[in-house]
Amino acid sequence: MVLCAVPVSTGVLAQEARTPPAPLNLPALGDSVGQDLSPRAERRLGDRIMRAIRSDPAVIDDPLVLEYVQALWDDLLRAGRQRGEIGPDLEDSHAWEPFLVRDKSVNAFALPGGYIGVHLGLMAMTTTTDELASVLAHELSHVTQRHIARMMGQQARTSWMSMASMVLGILAASRNPAAAQALIYGGQAATIQGQLNFSRDMEREADRVGFTVLSEAGFEPGGMARMFEHLQQASRLNDDGSFPYLRTHPLTSERIGEARARMGPDGWTQALRARPSEHQRTAWHALMSARAQVLMDPRSDALHRLATLTPPEGASALQRVRVHYTVALAKQRTGQTAGATAAMDQARQATLSLPASQQPLVWRILTLSEAEGLLEAQRPREAVAALKRPALASPMAAPEAGRPELLLNARLALAQPASGSQANQWRDAANQLQTHLSQHPHDAAAWALLSELWRRLEQPLRAIRADAEATAALGDLPGAIDRIQGAHQRFRRPDAADVIELSVMDARLKVWQRQQREDLRDDN
Ligand SMILES: [Zn+2]
Repeated sequence: MVLCAVPVSTGVLAQEARTPPAPLNLPALGDSVGQDLSPRAERRLGDRIMRAIRSDPAVIDDPLVLEYVQALWDDLLRAGRQRGEIGPDLEDSHAWEPFLVRDKSVNAFALPGGYIGVHLGLMAMTTTTDELASVLAHELSHVTQRHIARMMGQQARTSWMSMASMVLGILAASRNPAAAQALIYGGQAATIQGQLNFSRDMEREADRVGFTVLSEAGFEPGGMARMFEHLQQASRLNDDGSFPYLRTHPLTSERIGEARARMGPDGWTQALRARPSEHQRTAWHALMSARAQVLMDPRSDALHRLATLTPPEGASALQRVRVHYTVALAKQRTGQTAGATAAMDQARQATLSLPASQQPLVWRILTLSEAEGLLEAQRPREAVAALKRPALASPMAAPEAGRPELLLNARLALAQPASGSQANQWRDAANQLQTHLSQHPHDAAAWALLSELWRRLEQPLRAIRADAEATAALGDLPGAIDRIQGAHQRFRRPDAADVIELSVMDARLKVWQRQQREDLRDDN
């Protein structure tokens, strides 16, 4: 979990880690001491940790960045299945879900049950898709090789609560180091920190399995060795604790050497020759790492610095797009709306010099980002106009609309002033969200928007249910249960349609109550 790469930068953590663990007075996890945690038990543990951390402000849902990470992750998962690293039992029991952490340090970690935390700092620091994918493949391999289960099985005293408070400590550290220390004291998390690092053998295995998964998924296998070299170089330049990944993954020359050896004698020359199919990924990574750079540090001095960047002399078209995009996003977030629009125009201009295969993807990201910025600046009409800008005349098909479009459309529908035709737009947006939610029932952002749409459409019961789902998806089970119970109080004499809705709500209520009972049982 955490296992892979917990920042141990605070003095408290480092100190506490050396002392033997105090009895945590918490229940044993796992079926019995000395045995691996079963896949189901591991997932339950992971779910509980995620329930505790999901509503933390450092866990962010940026639809565009998440979509990119998810795409890389899906490719790796597919390869893991093909190679048999993910068998049917693991496939069904685990969540296999990456999530984003707003933190500028370079880090990624695997939690029990197949949840992978990716720091925005890691995305901002990697220069290619393959580098980022190599870290994801490594973390994925910790999960597939059951490293967490093996370690948990050996530590009967490790509880989900102590692991959750440790992760919360990581998240809090991204905002305020002092708060993180207080929390770590309170949660006793530090006492188990010393035991939660993977063994060297496990790390070596994750490198080896990760490498084969990476190659099988079609990524440049050189990405892993390049990532190591890149990390080593960058950390040499600044030894300020912003590379927690290195603390748990020391870059021995042996580790780099092995990564190189796996590539064979022609490895480096092959790695330098980008395949045409990688063109799109290259552009996608350039924009998403720029976005991560802007999102990872919300302080105004950091944003003002990014808002004044200019493309270096002789920059490639993609470098120019990336710089103008960074400037536009930074200006959006510092209230410079006109400047943001101008920078977006420059980015679009530079896009026209990109290879044709890259243009539609870049155009889409620029358009969505511009519309989002205008919406945030309370200019919904201009946002709609930005989305209607004609797409590129390009031989490549436009990229499919995805979750970013879905959420943005719903937000735009809600931002328009009420009118007769507006109700139709609300209904369309609600229908689209419902279709999406039938496939992705844990999408908290989509449920929250749907709730607001139902409220506007004067469907109070549906609005309450969607709100309860959003609350549960963020991990707040008591809040979700309260909402359903409140609805029963309010609708004592339901009509026929309400009866159906209420029975759906009751089914959900039972699920949440059961989960809550399980959580409480494990606390005592
Ligand atoms: Zn690792």
